[in-house]
Amino acid sequence: MSIMELDTTYVAGTYKRFPVEIVSGKGSRVVDANGKEYIDMGSGIGVTAFGIADDAWQAAVTEQIGKVQHMSNLYYTEPCARLAKLLCEKTGMKKVFFANSGAEANEGAIKVARKYAAEKHGPDHYTIITLHNSFHGRTLTTLAATGQDHFHKLFQPLTPGFVSTPANDFEALKTLALETKAAGILIECIQGEGGVLPLTTDFVKAVAEFAAQQDIVLMVDEVQTGNGRTGMLYAYQHFGIRPDVVSTAKGLGGGLPIGAVLMGEKVQSVLGYGDHGSTYGGNPVCCAGALSVIERLDDAFLSRVRRLSGYVFASLHGAPGIESVTGLGLMVGIKTRAPAADIVKECISRGVLCLTAKDKVRLLPALNIPMEDLTYAIDTIKAVSAELAER
Ligand SMILES: *Cc1c(COP(=O)(O)O)cnc(C)c1O
Repeated sequence: MSIMELDTTYVAGTYKRFPVEIVSGKGSRVVDANGKEYIDMGSGIGVTAFGIADDAWQAAVTEQIGKVQHMSNLYYTEPCARLAKLLCEKTGMKKVFFANSGAEANEGAIKVARKYAAEKHGPDHYTIITLHNSFHGRTLTTLAATGQDHFHKLFQPLTPGFVSTPANDFEALKTLALETKAAGILIECIQGEGGVLPLTTDFVKAVAEFAAQQDIVLMVDEVQTGNGRTGMLYAYQHFGIRPDVVSTAKGLGGGLPIGAVLMGEKVQSVLGYGDHGSTYGGNPVCCAGALSVIERLDDAFLSRVRRLSGYVFASLHGAPGIESVTGLGLMVGIKTRAPAADIVKECISRGVLCLTAKDKVRLLPALNIPMEDLTYAIDTIKAVSAELAER
């Protein structure tokens, strides 16, 4: 059997895969089993922050594999401690809990909010407010947090204590939070899976102010928007707020499974011995990879991300067959006249890999994508969008 046949026979059918088998790559280019090369504008859904087999990342990871690939959390290891320090120094957060994925980071964040509110305000303060059209993960609790009913139907009952309210409607959120004695509010500053939709600055600021006043734990889900993706280290920094908890994953490890819960001053002491844990959490190889990513996200690097972003938005805006462009930094949603799925399919045949999000074409290229690769990909997307719009 071919690899595609093996996969469809033996791997659970949860993913709709394209008929492409990727065998190797370097930077923003990947090669399939037939030797065809592609520009990768998805980077593993915003995971391979420095592209495929990046030299510095690869050196950091292989060096650590040669020393010790895993220890339990009963002992100290260097990459874990250094990564926590770096994340705190760069954000002003105070403590980090390491997990393995975005969903698990969000689970940790929710546990922090629940424990803080129960201890400080009483056991009836447990509700978590989320937004319509949000996405927070696939576990039963993060599905409950995800404000999209179609994800919920087949898996009832979900974890209780989650309610959602429309994005960008502060009065509705405030009313709901007061009515339900909310423990926490969980938002994505840019709804990623929901269609690359940034929240308005007014809304985010109002929510942050209200949460602080009411002593509700403000959690920002930076699983997709974090780690340089939007041209700042974390997207909340664009909005001038200070969340109590930041959850992140995807780009953090540069391609290895790691998630993190960053805790600010107010909640820094909430998690104590035995309150939470994860066997792989803080794994030294994943942390070494993440250190190599986060160390390089300095002002000069992030300003290049913003420059590339400026080029992408200017180039796509108003182009034939393109109705709108949303997002921030190198997190880009493109509403095309032709269906997004058709655009993506045609781009694949022309050697460019793109993502979708709802009815949009979504781009999450490596943050260090060479200008030449970016130009080729954007020109291809524009050409395909224009051609398919004519059909
Ligand atoms: C991808 C994503 C998640 C889930 O992350 P996993 O690593 O797949 O568990 C959660 N929140 C947001 C905003 C995401 O984009």
